[in-house]
Amino acid sequence: MTRPDLVRQIRAAVDVETVVGLTRDLVRIRSENPPGRETEVVAHLRERAPDLGLAATVVETAPGRQNLLLTTGSRPGKPVLLVNGHLDTVPVRPAAWRHDPFGGEVTDGRLYGRGSADMKGGVAAALTGWQVCRSLGLELPCELVFHLVADEELGGAQGTAALVARDLVHADACLDPEPTGLKLCLAERGLMFATVTTSGVPAHGSEPANGRSAIISAAAIAQVLHDNEFPQTPHPLLGTTTCNVGTIRGGSGPNVVPEECRLEIDRRILPGESRAIAVQGIVDRIASLGLARGTDYDLQVDTFCEPSEISPGHPFVGFVADTFTAMTGRAPGTTGLPFTTDARFMRNQLGIPSVVFGPGDLAVAHTVDEYVEVDALVTAVGVYAGLFAGFAGTRPMTDNAAGGSSADTAVEGVPSAR
Ligand SMILES: [Zn+2]
Repeated sequence: MTRPDLVRQIRAAVDVETVVGLTRDLVRIRSENPPGRETEVVAHLRERAPDLGLAATVVETAPGRQNLLLTTGSRPGKPVLLVNGHLDTVPVRPAAWRHDPFGGEVTDGRLYGRGSADMKGGVAAALTGWQVCRSLGLELPCELVFHLVADEELGGAQGTAALVARDLVHADACLDPEPTGLKLCLAERGLMFATVTTSGVPAHGSEPANGRSAIISAAAIAQVLHDNEFPQTPHPLLGTTTCNVGTIRGGSGPNVVPEECRLEIDRRILPGESRAIAVQGIVDRIASLGLARGTDYDLQVDTFCEPSEISPGHPFVGFVADTFTAMTGRAPGTTGLPFTTDARFMRNQLGIPSVVFGPGDLAVAHTVDEYVEVDALVTAVGVYAGLFAGFAGTRPMTDNAAGGSSADTAVEGVPSAR
């Protein structure tokens, strides 16, 4: 089959109702994290797996925390394309919503609901893309694996990180259908949550000069960290780092010079910055105030998620871009994410080239009245089907005779993590 034929066939086979229906079904099954309740949505998809022609395995990493592994079946010698998508969502305060957060209603071309953009729409589009390939009777040049995971919203310990720890992640490339507004996301910032605890000398509140206020030290630290004057080189897709002082708690009452104050900070990390570099940057900024770690304050790192990126020139990026162009007739945009996704595990720990690309606008993820545009779902289904039909490990499509794009960008040299 020639490339234009394949593109035409895929476009014709994309059914709006199928992807809208599956997205709606997933939105209607609550899976908010916290508390972390992915079991019902896992059970629903597991039940549907035989109809989708996929073999299912459930991996429970903690009581009630489940991940669903789906595969087209082992195909020895064929490259493996992994789709990693999370099934958990952030919580909802329903009173603030104009639309039912668990209704999946479609109004004016938008499907509303918690997780519609982040990222049940992307998961539904990827599964529907596979259905398109199946309905066309295409013999895929790859083995297709879906890891539909728990706990991404809170760092992935019960999800992708657990699958990596159990040596269950093997692939030649990975697609992560998080909401990127259908842009190719090639880099993401990491994060470091840390607690700074300042020490003071208590005294009677009527004579503050007799003590040293932990709150005043904390206030100065909050300002100097908020100013974000860390040594840094802006990243072409990510811009600069940031530092947010998110909480402050200190003192015991109005009439006591405070002895202790705690700040919780969120420092975002650019590729190239290690945990040690990030910590040193904070220590140096606080030192500029004349405060010393260990005597005037303590610093504790609570969470560190490393940044990650893939080179824009990587062959897998070229393959995804060319497939997007072939399916849509336009070149995709590229972008970076200001926060982390599970793609970092693939890129950093496993060396699996990963592109984050999916329907839904980042700006509405985690917000009130979250939605995904039906048109974006449909576009994603077509592009995903093209990726599944074309990922051969060495060539992007079965035939590039008249593609019109730089379709001979080969996927040769995609490093295997197996
Ligand atoms: Zn997400």
